[in-house]
Amino acid sequence: MEKSANNLSEQGKQSATQPESSLLAPTAEQLKAEATADVLPIMQQIDVLATEQDISLSFLEHLLSMPKNNAVKYLHAKARKAVETVYGDKIFLRGLIEITSYCRNNCNYCGIRRSNKTLERYRMTPETIMTCCKEGYSYGMRTFVIQGGEDMWWNDERLGALVSDIRSQYPDCAITLSMGEHSRESYQRLFDLGANRYLLRHETADENHYSYLHPSEMSFQNRMQCLQWLKEIGFQVGCGFMVGSPGQTPQTIHKDLQFIRTFRPQMVGIGPFVATQHTPFAEEPNGSVETTLRLLSIIRLLHPHVLLPSTTALGSLHPLGRELGILAGANVLMPNLSPVENRELYNIYDNKICLGDGIDHCYDCLQTRMESTGRRIVVERGDFVG
Ligand code: SAH
Repeated sequence: MEKSANNLSEQGKQSATQPESSLLAPTAEQLKAEATADVLPIMQQIDVLATEQDISLSFLEHLLSMPKNNAVKYLHAKARKAVETVYGDKIFLRGLIEITSYCRNNCNYCGIRRSNKTLERYRMTPETIMTCCKEGYSYGMRTFVIQGGEDMWWNDERLGALVSDIRSQYPDCAITLSMGEHSRESYQRLFDLGANRYLLRHETADENHYSYLHPSEMSFQNRMQCLQWLKEIGFQVGCGFMVGSPGQTPQTIHKDLQFIRTFRPQMVGIGPFVATQHTPFAEEPNGSVETTLRLLSIIRLLHPHVLLPSTTALGSLHPLGRELGILAGANVLMPNLSPVENRELYNIYDNKICLGDGIDHCYDCLQTRMESTGRRIVVERGDFVG
């Protein structure tokens, strides 16, 4: 039976006021009032960070390396307060549809890189994609994220037709594309046909690091150029990076944060790097959940209005990863609407959660999980508040 969106919104409201098992930490004020001399100066520096919306490399290094103490709790509490000031207690859903696992690129970290010959590839039909949208809509999703590898079958004409179809059937929904690098003309055309947002993680703002993560045929300049075009065209743009990717250092992260400060994207996607078989980085260590949480909070304080997902990768490396992401300042969740039979094949990274769970199960699971955060999932597009 289809659930009504209104009902779900109502459930969300009730559960937010009656959390069953609360993860809620003390507020920033409480933490500061009880602060000991060792953490108080750090809390004060966090206040300066929040006021100036800037961070030095040395303070970043300090925040990322300090033990898990009350100053870390304070960082998260300040970030929660910042997001609640702009977006209240709302958590926005984005229904993710992974439309193709074919990819012309060969990114060193990614499981769907073209050299991975072990992977059976799939490409959804437009009909299947429309069915995913229908199901997502019935669960209250008002943003669809169309993501995939850089698959040339999905040319301007086919992707344009899909965008037009979704636009005409769901005039009240946002369409987000996450289909990689294309020409300015292609982006413009997709925008004109009704796409509103585009996710293109910059992956790293350090050119040498970019070269380490990608084969030589891919260029840092082009990635940055694409982000610029998307912004100029009028998309709400999302950049982002993996936390703990091979070769990443506090210096490269500092560049990422400076890039976010100056580019001012509407969305930022960060999640831990997950070492993935059949890639050159298969034996590298995974990124840290703790570092990801600290960076979520720092990004929230540097750019309080940004839409920040608590990513599936975070949930994949920690059983409460998505809840902790929300409590660190994230305000978006991206449940998977792809048919269950495709999910394992969209293996950008290993050990992804929810591979066997349909949206009915995922929806209920996320509702329950979010109860412990004191926030509520809403039925809204969740546009950037500028
Ligand atoms: N082709 C699209 C979508 C890429 S997949 C594009 O180029 O934008 C979306 C994101 O997954 C990537 O931007 C990357 O940051 C992330 N990703 C890829 N491999 C990963 C891995 N092994 N661990 C964690 N995240 C990964």
